[in-house]
Amino acid sequence: MWPFKKKPKIEYLEAAELNFTQVDFTERFGDHLSLSEDEWIETIPMNRTFPDGKGGNLPPIDAIGDEIYRIASRLSEIRESFRVPTDGVYCPVCHIANIDYAHLRNPCPKCGPSTPCLRLELATLHTIQSLRSFKQHKNSVQQRGK
Ligand SMILES: [Zn+2]
Repeated sequence: MWPFKKKPKIEYLEAAELNFTQVDFTERFGDHLSLSEDEWIETIPMNRTFPDGKGGNLPPIDAIGDEIYRIASRLSEIRESFRVPTDGVYCPVCHIANIDYAHLRNPCPKCGPSTPCLRLELATLHTIQSLRSFKQHKNSVQQRGK
């Protein structure tokens, strides 16, 4: 018998400990099911969801295009080493995503050849869940401090 732990291990992650493989996310769970290959949807920079704009390995909130792209490209390489059926592509500079994996490392339709599309997980349910538990934890800390 192994010991069972009732509390999930990742319930209270500190922002600095979070590790992402993409810098943007799509808002709705199931985007990969409802979109067509011609549709580009807006993505949200993940660092904007943190109170001070600092989350794990994400670029700082005041980072500009090139810097964001460099970080996002490195993270995308990690995702590119394995294949997940719900993955699509995105541009971390103009914040758009598409389900067609054929766009990977091909020019972003808005930014052009200088900004090839990177890999994005469209079904970011677990990401959003960890962000929520982070926020809840943060709120409870703030309330206790009053
Ligand atoms: Zn773009």
